[in-house]
Amino acid sequence: MTSQYRVNYHLRAHKRDHLIEFIKGMLLTPFVLQTEPLSTAYTDIFTNIEELINEHRLLHATSNTTRLSKIVPTIGSFFTPLPLARAFLHTDRKVNHILGRKHVPPSFNDVRRILNTAQVMAIAPQLKLVTFDGDMTLYADGANFEQDSLLTAQLVGLLKRGVAVAIVTAAGYGHNAAKYETRLSGLLKSFELARLSHKEVAQFFVLGGECNFLFKCNKQYRLEYVETPQLWTADQIARTLDVAEGELADCVRRMGIDAQIVRKPRAVGLVPRESLTREQLDECALSTQVALLSLQGSSDPGAAPVPFCAFNGGNDCWVDIGNKLIGVRIVQRLVCSPAHATLHIGDQFLSTGNDISTRTACCTCWIINPEETLAILTELDSFLPSDTPVVAAIDAVVAANANANASADADAGAGADTSS
Ligand SMILES: [Mg+2]
Repeated sequence: MTSQYRVNYHLRAHKRDHLIEFIKGMLLTPFVLQTEPLSTAYTDIFTNIEELINEHRLLHATSNTTRLSKIVPTIGSFFTPLPLARAFLHTDRKVNHILGRKHVPPSFNDVRRILNTAQVMAIAPQLKLVTFDGDMTLYADGANFEQDSLLTAQLVGLLKRGVAVAIVTAAGYGHNAAKYETRLSGLLKSFELARLSHKEVAQFFVLGGECNFLFKCNKQYRLEYVETPQLWTADQIARTLDVAEGELADCVRRMGIDAQIVRKPRAVGLVPRESLTREQLDECALSTQVALLSLQGSSDPGAAPVPFCAFNGGNDCWVDIGNKLIGVRIVQRLVCSPAHATLHIGDQFLSTGNDISTRTACCTCWIINPEETLAILTELDSFLPSDTPVVAAIDAVVAANANANASADADAGAGADTSS
């Protein structure tokens, strides 16, 4: 049946985060009514939502229904409490100055940032593992992790503290470590410049193709492929990718897109030769999602016999075998990090994104670009126990990177003089 409701749902549901919308709606009332003092009204709301979350955490395991799940039916699990009132005051003071605004109410992005801050405040004391998405989280879409990125120092700082770090990315280059080393060359060079010990770099991992290709870092600061158990048969994978490829081809035909369809061992993608709108890419992701769910008789991509991830990659659309939920769980097992000690940072948390599945395995932060990743890691650093001289370690990496760049510039300059 195609009711108006179903059409509206498909038009809008994948663009929404229902918890954020709920919080935003709650904050709108005192803003519109110009309640005085506004700070008390907002902090009271955040305190009440904290209580709803605490109750949900307590009852969720034994009861299908909580007060919060009645208000936000799509709500999942919270692995830590969220100190939202404290995070609101912190964010207001340092970032978005909500209390000083008379004409612009608290927005979706304001609430998203407050949730991120609350999450890093809560997880800091027991943090064991941080997993990162790659594109648009650590570097621009399709770019490499450059040595002069300020994020290199933050990742070095985490490893120095004994926190494991993993990059869980859709980028799938099979067993080819060299290709991942090229994408991450600046980061690996920073490990070397910071003289990270074998023990420290042994806590760094890369998982390519969402969950399909695992690499660890050795003491020469190189990536080594690690064999993992095969979760699906070759036939299962081929059948899934055949259907996804057929659906993407149908999208190309229906929307008259000029694109190449790329088949890889564990993925199939639509790579446009022209710029596509977000709506077109969402259509491709949702079309393949629906076709694969129908093929497998499932209503959830993560619970299907062959779990998959059909997502809008920003400039392209990909269907991967497996998902980041499986990827994060692989790393969690490797470093013995439970859900409440694991943080995943990514930019794709709408239902057509590939980071959303990690919410089942661990705590998450939803950022929108590498600058926000840097900001949230800087905040996290200020909340971590201060028994390790991490600031000095970060300063050392920044200084080493600056020296390396200065040497490179000098070499280039010398080359230019010679040629003239
Ligand atoms: Mg991304």
